[in-house]
Amino acid sequence: MQTYTYVSKGKFELTEKPKPVIMHERDAIVKVTLASICSSDLHIKHGSVPRAVPGITVGHEMVGIVEEVGDAVTHVKPGDRVTVNVETFCGECYFCKKGYVNNCTDQNGGWALGCRIDGGQAEYVRVPFADQGLNKIPDEVTDRQALFVGDVLATGYWATRISEITEDDTVLIIGAGPTGICTLLCVMLKHPKHIIMCEKDEERIHFINEHYPDVLTISPEECETFVKNTSDHGGADVVLEVAGAESTFRLAWECARPNAIVTVVALYDKAQSLPLPDMYGKNLIFKTGGVDGCDCEETLKLIAEGKINTEPLITHTYPLSKIEEAYDLFENKRDGVIKVAVEC
Ligand SMILES: [Zn+2]
Ligand SMILES: [Zn+2]
Repeated sequence: MQTYTYVSKGKFELTEKPKPVIMHERDAIVKVTLASICSSDLHIKHGSVPRAVPGITVGHEMVGIVEEVGDAVTHVKPGDRVTVNVETFCGECYFCKKGYVNNCTDQNGGWALGCRIDGGQAEYVRVPFADQGLNKIPDEVTDRQALFVGDVLATGYWATRISEITEDDTVLIIGAGPTGICTLLCVMLKHPKHIIMCEKDEERIHFINEHYPDVLTISPEECETFVKNTSDHGGADVVLEVAGAESTFRLAWECARPNAIVTVVALYDKAQSLPLPDMYGKNLIFKTGGVDGCDCEETLKLIAEGKINTEPLITHTYPLSKIEEAYDLFENKRDGVIKVAVEC
């Protein structure tokens, strides 16, 4: 089968590999129908994910059809249309039982697919702990509507859940990339008083203004003043930092009112400083990533009910045979790209 493979630092290549087989009784083999490219794939490509194993098939955001299941799998069966969770988790350890599935202590726990084991930019993928990692897609939901459930939408949903948003709040979201927009869609379900999105890219600002006209948008330079003028208590009640740029961590806590919650979803290239003397007395509450992706059933339900729609994020579609072109477009942010769907 065709797979897109991490060969070495800076090099991904379409290669031929044997179709995966069941290796454990809790595995499933999924025939991938649609996959997507995530910025984490680019992090692997550029060597900034040290645990990524050269030779693995990349891709951790996909949907497909169950082809085969191991003897211990009970929640899905061959023929089921499913989303695949970015995280592999056992469902049984201390952290899994608490819902902190990102910290699953199994050796395959956490982000394994498309990083430490073969992922989904391929015709087939083997999914360990299939009962945890696969969710059945309701009949009324299309593959395209469900494509982001396992990764970027899971992240946005989780970030919103831990941010304790109320209807009186002014919520600032920093970064209007795919994860930022998914976060926005989930924040909108909480009906806060104001939602402000801070973004430097004009095309992305345009996308937000066009699709979500009630959302206020602002550039990073004007953000702090704008947020302070727009909110009731001298700053945002909740800040979600999804950008991960050079100065966005600082911007996040500077825009927060005293006693605000600052949720840091972003993955930074470099260490960030927490200048406690500068923020002394602000009494901020920081919450940090990564995602505990265990709400996929709930998000699929919200999609089926028409409450979440991530389909507009798919701006481009390519066949697997042209995935190279898809990466080029996505990496260079050409042609207003938000997300790419890859037909496998
Ligand atoms: Zn991802
Ligand atoms: Zn676990």
